[in-house]
Amino acid sequence: MKLRELEILTRPEHPDLEAARARRWEELPAHVRTANQMLGRRTAGCEGTHGVFPRCDLACTPCYHSREANRVRVDGEHTRAQVGAQMALLRELRGPGQNAQLIGGEVTLLAPDDHAAALQAMIDHGRKPMSMSHGDFDYAYLERLALDPATGRPRFRHLSFAGHFDSMMFGRRGIRRARTEAELHPYRAQFVETFRRLEREHGVTHYLAHNMTVTPRNLDQIAGVIRACRDMGFRMFSFQPAAFVGNERRWKDDYRAVSTDRVWEEIERGAGARLHFRALQIGDERCNRTAYGAYAGDRYAPLLDEDDAHDQRWLQDFIAAFGGMDFAAPPPLLAARLARGFARHPRALPGVAGWARRFVARAGGPAHVARHRPRAITYVMHAFMDARDVRPAWEALRRGELADDPRVRATQERLQACSYAMAHPEDGTLVPACAQHSVLDPAENLRLQELLPIA
Ligand code: SF4
Repeated sequence: MKLRELEILTRPEHPDLEAARARRWEELPAHVRTANQMLGRRTAGCEGTHGVFPRCDLACTPCYHSREANRVRVDGEHTRAQVGAQMALLRELRGPGQNAQLIGGEVTLLAPDDHAAALQAMIDHGRKPMSMSHGDFDYAYLERLALDPATGRPRFRHLSFAGHFDSMMFGRRGIRRARTEAELHPYRAQFVETFRRLEREHGVTHYLAHNMTVTPRNLDQIAGVIRACRDMGFRMFSFQPAAFVGNERRWKDDYRAVSTDRVWEEIERGAGARLHFRALQIGDERCNRTAYGAYAGDRYAPLLDEDDAHDQRWLQDFIAAFGGMDFAAPPPLLAARLARGFARHPRALPGVAGWARRFVARAGGPAHVARHRPRAITYVMHAFMDARDVRPAWEALRRGELADDPRVRATQERLQACSYAMAHPEDGTLVPACAQHSVLDPAENLRLQELLPIA
């Protein structure tokens, strides 16, 4: 390796990411440029694919896909080409090391080799991929995805999946229609077990998220889902309050009868603790709440206490030292990056000890933590917006106009602070997922329907 490459590799973060973060920060509207804002300071944002495999074999109410989505053939060649092009643009505009979701309709409708090729393309373009699935697939599929068919050995050391489980989904094998969330617990457990088996048999590790749409029908079951599934092996629980987006025939309830505050209350009830989502903010609070923390036994401790001034100062020192650094690196590389980060901002070094002391105290003290090794669990709420709001807001933004109407203006603020982007290589733009689903998907799926008709 050349000296210059080594110098870049051992920096806390790649210069392209540093530049992308700085650009993102400059683009953000003033109301989200707060001390706890992570967009532009820790991350350039999350990413997702679109227009790759919109078809799904389950039916959700609501479904964010337009009606045409299920008239598009799942085509491996198209997926590989599109994912490659979209990821290349994301690498160019957002730098390396960002989280990207392989998402469309149902990812496991792709042949395992096509799924693997898409993940590999994402990795090759510096993304950290996560496959978004309804979780209704067999071990044989996962094994074929994970193993190289030529050698029988793992082609990935690690896989990240999000499993979407809720009682608004219809058609799952074994339970076509779940009347309650509790009826789905065995399927949630089976999903996790599939990955555990892969790890036991082939050494491929995993990160699993649990996704759930929230409507007035299952709001009061959130806490039960968290309590029943918290120890299953999921590392993240993500809740999406339903929005009026996508296929209108699948809109069943008054989704606006559920406020995001109510959803969060239920998440906290299930978590068994107050969740400090204001310690860190990703984008606009009306879109995202994220609470990082860990359980030591049954006791939950937030990673950062949003009311603690010491934790707030430590966060600023951490960002100044490490910026967007990826801590999931091989030990020698990690050591070099840590050393250079602390050298960049020496005040962060004593700050680590102080933060660790406070965290252990929150988790029950040294003896309790020694007995119960903390398990990290992240709670997320992501509230998509209604298509009828997004359309005028997005179209005005495209014309360079900020609306006077408070409702449209609020939507524009959220779109400008969006943390979930989708790439359009044909014109070199990134668009918020809300704009993708509300405005662009219908025409895109019509084009795909012609390009990839179902035989
Ligand atoms: S604008 Fe839409 S896609 Fe972007 S973060 Fe907000 S809710 Fe999510």
